[in-house]
Amino acid sequence: MSVIAQRHIVSRLQKQWSEGRIPHALLLAGPEGCGKMPLALDYARLLLCEQPLKEEEQARPCEKCRGCAMSRTAAHPDLHFVFPVIRPKNASSASRVVCDLWLKEWREMLNDGVYFDLAAWEERMGIENQQPIIYSDESEEILRKVSLVSSQGGYKVVVIWLPELMHVSCSNKLLKLLEEPPAQTVFILCSNQPEKLLPTILSRTQRIDMKALPEEEIAAALRSERGLSETDAAHIAHLAAGSYTRALRQISVNNDEREFLDMFILLMRKCYLRDIKEMHAWSEHIATWGRERQKAFLDYAQRLVRENFVLNFGLPQLNFLSKDEAAFSVNFARFINERNVIGITEELALAQRDIEQNVNARMVFFDFSLKMIVLLIQ
Ligand SMILES: [Zn+2]
Repeated sequence: MSVIAQRHIVSRLQKQWSEGRIPHALLLAGPEGCGKMPLALDYARLLLCEQPLKEEEQARPCEKCRGCAMSRTAAHPDLHFVFPVIRPKNASSASRVVCDLWLKEWREMLNDGVYFDLAAWEERMGIENQQPIIYSDESEEILRKVSLVSSQGGYKVVVIWLPELMHVSCSNKLLKLLEEPPAQTVFILCSNQPEKLLPTILSRTQRIDMKALPEEEIAAALRSERGLSETDAAHIAHLAAGSYTRALRQISVNNDEREFLDMFILLMRKCYLRDIKEMHAWSEHIATWGRERQKAFLDYAQRLVRENFVLNFGLPQLNFLSKDEAAFSVNFARFINERNVIGITEELALAQRDIEQNVNARMVFFDFSLKMIVLLIQ
């Protein structure tokens, strides 16, 4: 099982399966990051396994058969996915917009990890200001897929991720399918906002409500799945507020910040030593980063400068520094004072605006470093 915790729900589904009570439509409802998609996939794998194991009331896929091998990589021909998408950049405006246009990216997403949120999926599709939806075109696709004869002679499973983002005409077609379910077909809907679904769809599904994850379950998973130390796992689990996807995002923020800190320390050292050649090399390096990352670094630098200024007042309860940041700031704080704090912050904000306006990043960062030489000794 790849789902974290949620044990009573898992055993409820296993028990139902053992008794041959397989609902034709299941609605997994619950907050972001509680494990709806992982549970849907676990259940799909059980349905698609050719020789599932049954021990007392515990049912699980064998992990050895062809069905298991194919569903493990989300590539089973009888496992279909419906999920919100946008029109691909290269598609003509006349062409239909269906999920299969994004199937490659979708499988990569699932194979990288079954806990992800809409923001992560949007990033994967490379979109910024568009709202992905399940287009009305999708209804024909769903109909076509469920009318296929299952390739292995067993179940067909349709996992619908975020059905609340479905175009209403597609919802109506889906409702028809739920009212007269095709044989040997199981729909699994994973919804963050079930209150946005058509009441008629709700009444046609067996609803399972999932709760946010307890902090200690998240911490345990971070230790065993991600190899985090006990302290780090506890810290991140606390910030995650019940969502494993939020916890994963927090890990990557932490990794980014560690790199940002290293870059900041390096620059400050070179500026202090007035090592112009190295400052130039530093600017060339940061210029290779993407624009969003450069902006994030400048945000980070502003925060660090502010924290260092506050540090001089000896009020630790007002400081929010990680362990590594605190170690650096012990010596750095004395360079940030009432004479230069505003100047440095303004220069960082200015650099950020220039980056936003597409000014040459190497020049922006090199300029900033030159100004820091002067500001640091004020
Ligand atoms: Zn199997």
